[in-house]
Amino acid sequence: MPAVAPLHPGTARFEGGLSEVGPGVHAWLQPNGLLGESNAALIVGDGASLLVDTLWDPGLTRRMLAAMGPLLEEARIETVVNTHSDGDHWWGNQEVPAAEIIATEAAAAVMGDESPTEMKRFGTLAGALRVAGSLPLPYPRRGDVAVFAAYAGEALRPFEFGEVRLVPPTRTFSGELALDVGGREVRLIEVGPAHSSGDLIVWVPDAKAAIAADILFIGVTPIMWAGPLAHWVAALKRLLGLGAERFVPGHGPVCGTDEVRTLIDYWRWLDQAAGQRLDSGSSSPETARQLVLGDEITHHGFADWLAPERALVNVRTIDAHRRGVAKPPGPRELIAAFFRMALLARDHELGRAATGAGGLPVTGAADSGR
Ligand SMILES: [Zn+2]
Repeated sequence: MPAVAPLHPGTARFEGGLSEVGPGVHAWLQPNGLLGESNAALIVGDGASLLVDTLWDPGLTRRMLAAMGPLLEEARIETVVNTHSDGDHWWGNQEVPAAEIIATEAAAAVMGDESPTEMKRFGTLAGALRVAGSLPLPYPRRGDVAVFAAYAGEALRPFEFGEVRLVPPTRTFSGELALDVGGREVRLIEVGPAHSSGDLIVWVPDAKAAIAADILFIGVTPIMWAGPLAHWVAALKRLLGLGAERFVPGHGPVCGTDEVRTLIDYWRWLDQAAGQRLDSGSSSPETARQLVLGDEITHHGFADWLAPERALVNVRTIDAHRRGVAKPPGPRELIAAFFRMALLARDHELGRAATGAGGLPVTGAADSGR
């Protein structure tokens, strides 16, 4: 099988493609777990199989299904589970026609909120600049707009949204749902709202394997769109309580219980460190910048995770819940969040380059006027 290279620039930090994580449970991994480099999993039973998530565009889904071909010869995919509403986990549904598609009721309720057409438009440089120019953005410098355009353009460049035809779930549930997949028990457990409003995890008891989807990000900073943080920590504890030995994250390599505990540590640190600063009057963007660019993150061992700028979204969500005003971000807030993340990513890279910690300034940094 050809190697599965990262979709974004950079060398692979772990091996992509298919790997068996327990008897008849196969992970499909896309290094390095950055935006849209999402994972999926196949649970193979006697004469039937279940696919967990379908990636961000039909081409990526076809590549995955081709690799799974030999496994599917005697166990057709009868069921697809969409773990949540983010497009990188379900916009390939059209490639598995005739399957029953299951999601939580809460996820299904918002699955139509993003459109492939809008995403495609957002991904083009001209579109990004046009949108940025029409918004009351906090940093109105031309160089900064160029940094944003490069960041947003690169983030979405690998994906072909033009081909996506949205195929929504055909069955929803709340709480828990037990399925029989060719004689095997598979349990769907709703744990949202946490990463998104309707997250679920998948537990395969006979393989001691859990598909955690975007409740787990490994080697890459998690992003909390919905929260509250306490729900996410509770979901991680739920994962630990299953008795699973191997976990398939939504982004990053397969892991064990240690990595789950490390993510709990991250959330506890961020909650406490951000809470202190917010209490003393720091704004949520300023708080996130201090935490990402400061020394604490290194002392706590989270400095090597990719995309540290996502702390901007995480602190924003923590702050909104503390103030009782949490709601899902609308399109304008998403663009503003991308804008801030682009600048923080640039400043973080500049800081690392200056201290010899590695990394190169991102494109456009020289033009930023700083
Ligand atoms: Zn994802």
